[in-house]
Amino acid sequence: AAGDENIDVVVVGGGPGGYVAAIKAAQLGFKTTCVEKRGSLGGTCLNVGCIPSKALLHSSHMFHDAQHNFAAHGVTVTNVQIDLPKMMDQKNKAVSGLTKGIEGLFKKNKVTYVKGAGKITGPGSVSVELLEGGTKEIKAKHIIIATGSDVKSLPGITIDEKQIVSSTGALALTEIPEKMIVIGGGYIGLEMASVWGRLGSEITVVEFGDAIVPSMDGEVRKSFQRTLEKQKMKFKLKTKVSKVEKSGTGLKVTIEPAAGGEATTLDANVVLVAAGRVPYIKGLGLEEVGVKVDKFGRVEVDDHFKTSVDGIYAIGDVIPGPMLAHKAEEDGVACVELLAGKAGHVNYDTVPGVVYTHPEVASVGKTEEQVKAAGIPYNVGKFPFMANSRARSIDDADGLVKIIAHKETDKVLGVHIMGPSAGEMIHEACLALEYGASSEDIARTCHGHPTLSEAVKEAAMATYDKPIHF
Ligand code: FAD
Repeated sequence: AAGDENIDVVVVGGGPGGYVAAIKAAQLGFKTTCVEKRGSLGGTCLNVGCIPSKALLHSSHMFHDAQHNFAAHGVTVTNVQIDLPKMMDQKNKAVSGLTKGIEGLFKKNKVTYVKGAGKITGPGSVSVELLEGGTKEIKAKHIIIATGSDVKSLPGITIDEKQIVSSTGALALTEIPEKMIVIGGGYIGLEMASVWGRLGSEITVVEFGDAIVPSMDGEVRKSFQRTLEKQKMKFKLKTKVSKVEKSGTGLKVTIEPAAGGEATTLDANVVLVAAGRVPYIKGLGLEEVGVKVDKFGRVEVDDHFKTSVDGIYAIGDVIPGPMLAHKAEEDGVACVELLAGKAGHVNYDTVPGVVYTHPEVASVGKTEEQVKAAGIPYNVGKFPFMANSRARSIDDADGLVKIIAHKETDKVLGVHIMGPSAGEMIHEACLALEYGASSEDIARTCHGHPTLSEAVKEAAMATYDKPIHF
């Protein structure tokens, strides 16, 4: 194929980092091309991450609700069944609709979409191995690396995506496993464990560390783990999986204490490897052009997303920082704004984290442990959803809101929510942190009644004064 000359920005990777950077670049007047090798846009997030997982979480929640919770509301259903292919169909429809939507946005914003694998052959040069065959040479002023991340594999465990699966395989199982072992108690493992647990699998989560989701506020995490245990999830902390072998039609999983000790075995039908993700830079040619990566394989950038080579930038999961879609998007926008001479900036202190289990857990800012370790004097305000009228009226009152504010200035330092729709509620906290609000600012802001968000207001009241309803 012919080459593309005089491009301003070429983005390699069409995930939430890359496609957002490409659209924003075009909106800022840059002639922009986005190269993606997957055959569809949206990256990990849309194809095998955020979106399909949330689809299955919702469907499985409906099933679980119908089975266990409808009756208490006077809704009698009998013979509730799962049609797994249909559930997968609904998930696939959500994914394909959204990926096509991005193609539409590319057309609307005049971003050129090149389907193929890009390799950086020098500053300003990208050579694309086209999916349809042949190659295309692209010359551009600026190159943005947005190649994202991939599943971290574990020694001695070979992923076949059928029985020994990564999250990708776990999003597409064709049968409900009787027993599933999840390696890794991070949010991806717990979300997939929730999906299959609700559909009937017996779940054991094996975690090397001494806690699930280690980034979470300790108090909230303890309460979260108790809630998951009530949902019949079993946890083996401080434990490592050393081997997974086929045994008949199932699997034999060898585990041992993380600190060393006697090995034991567990049976499973499916093992999910969810022990983290690693930056993906395969075939990009970084070494040849001299783009430096750190010891974790992440592309090194300065605070303007510039790599060690002039004209080459990097954003999203492939650089340091939380591996989250919204963080990748923020990087993408800021990076191209800086290229356009604008004041692009990402405030990494206000990036929320959400675990989409039920209840959800969402947080922004510092945990109590972090504030304590930093020697910052602080107040804590808490409010349980048990005392929130909306949560009670919908009979979904497990969880709490916890706010941490500076003892002297009352400035909000961290907000942690476990409860229904916590992932939606967290954003007033993000805004509070972004604007440097005090807990009193939140508490004196009128909140609609009856809403779950009133629990945020009451927790804020409890931070600097007293709540009304608890
Ligand atoms: P990616 O989305 O990984 O996109 C990179 C793209 O680059 C890929 O499509 C890849 O094919 C392409 N590519 C790579 N190399 C080349 C090349 N040489 N040439 C051309 N193309 C190339 N995050 C959240 O914020 N919320 C969630 O709920 C959430 N849920 C998740 C659930 C699961 C199961 C998983 C696995 C992840 C989840 N994530 C979630 C994380 C989220 O998916 C990532 O943080 C996000 O996708 C990172 O975006 P990115 O653009 O940096 O990279």
